[in-house]
Amino acid sequence: MADLTLSVLRRDGEAFMEALTREQHLALAGYKPTAELKPIYERYAHVLGPGALELTRDAFKGAATGTDEWRSARALLGWEIETHASRALAELDERIIAWEVAAIIRLADGGEVPYQRAAVDLATLADRNERLALDDARAALVERELAPMRAERLQRERDLIESLEIGADYIASFEALSGIDLRALATECERFLRDTETMWTEVHGHAVRKQLGIAPGEATRADALALLRAPRFDSYFPAAEMESVVRRQVSEMAVDPTAGGRAIYDLAPRPGKRSRAFCAPVRIPREVYLVLLPFGGATDYRTLLHELGHTLHFAYMRDDLPFEFRWLGDNSITEGYAMLFDHLMHDPGWLTRYSALGKARVAEYRRAAALEELQFLRRYCAKLLYELRLYGGDLSWSSLPDAYVEILSAATLFRYRTADAFVDVDPRFYSARYLRAWQLQAALREALVATFDEDWYRNPRTGPWMVRELFGEGQRELASELAERVGARPLSFDPVVRAIETGLSA
Ligand SMILES: [Zn+2]
Repeated sequence: MADLTLSVLRRDGEAFMEALTREQHLALAGYKPTAELKPIYERYAHVLGPGALELTRDAFKGAATGTDEWRSARALLGWEIETHASRALAELDERIIAWEVAAIIRLADGGEVPYQRAAVDLATLADRNERLALDDARAALVERELAPMRAERLQRERDLIESLEIGADYIASFEALSGIDLRALATECERFLRDTETMWTEVHGHAVRKQLGIAPGEATRADALALLRAPRFDSYFPAAEMESVVRRQVSEMAVDPTAGGRAIYDLAPRPGKRSRAFCAPVRIPREVYLVLLPFGGATDYRTLLHELGHTLHFAYMRDDLPFEFRWLGDNSITEGYAMLFDHLMHDPGWLTRYSALGKARVAEYRRAAALEELQFLRRYCAKLLYELRLYGGDLSWSSLPDAYVEILSAATLFRYRTADAFVDVDPRFYSARYLRAWQLQAALREALVATFDEDWYRNPRTGPWMVRELFGEGQRELASELAERVGARPLSFDPVVRAIETGLSA
């Protein structure tokens, strides 16, 4: 298209994102049997084609580093590349999804389990032999059928992005587009793993012996799923109350949880509604859905709080920000707000006030939550270290599964399997966004406590500040710049470690 300009790209790009998000929302929330995405891609072909990619690449290369024009071009180019890759890989993705829906795990004893139910079954099977037998059969199937497709997807996406010559290779391209220094973050991850190693060895050994009745050296990743499910607290987090609880808390910090009607809470059961919770910002900031099928339990509460953080962020964004600073940019920020809210599940004051745990059980719950957090974080650090090896080019693809098992098992002390080396990978280093979000939420929490006290979450001065300084600003900045602007400490794992230590010794 000859007349494609950046302002046309912004206008039609936003219309495309709205149409796409609306269609996905309707399908996942159970209002439509399937999402019909192809017609949307066709209708907006002009904002997704090679011309649009060229336009944003030129804008990025031509803008002076550090200016708003450069930030804007960086966000638009990153988005163009992402949609470009999604389109190029759509057929393979459809094949992968179709496989996941249809695949059946066949057990040695003749039993059958749908592939998609395996994770839930692994976490809930009480008999360890059954658990390991299921995981053996799952791994064999994945290795044979899914892993080759996922490996192909990773390779093709890498080749496609490298061919655009944004940076010298895949890693450098991601760094240029995200503003995240991956090697520096990897060094921080290595230090985090060292700093928490003694602590983890101790709590891991204790939990594995006590709750699984096995020696720590025998524990596998399937055992980890069973160990961390911890259903013993679920009755203190009733499904019927979860929506009113979080609305009450947000109101107490003087924020309208519905953002004047712009945030819509959809917790009602509906045939066809998927069980996975999500936030669908159909129009930012005017129409934002929080969709969840409530089962109750601690995990469900944490999920609701997480999606609540996203929802408030989108619904309270300034509507005069350009498309790219509302829809695109550094997702470490929106994940950081989501985590700021889901980490309220670690706060003794919050738990006492808003859950049914009661003072007597809060400490025990906090220790369990801190154990889970440390496991999760060590796993994510290891994932980033592995993903850097995967894209680094020093290892052949055939030796990556062994590297995966070595890195993930050493960090978590649960034995991983080679079958998952290409399946357990977040595309485009999303693990780095999560790790930055973890750092951001911990830095923000410490800043909030310093300004608005321990119970900042119910201080009526907190909400208006949060809306103005955090949510309103969208994602124009990087997470590190945001922390600096609001007077939080520079991003690091230090406050994360402090919070985990406090939780474990509760
Ligand atoms: Zn999230």
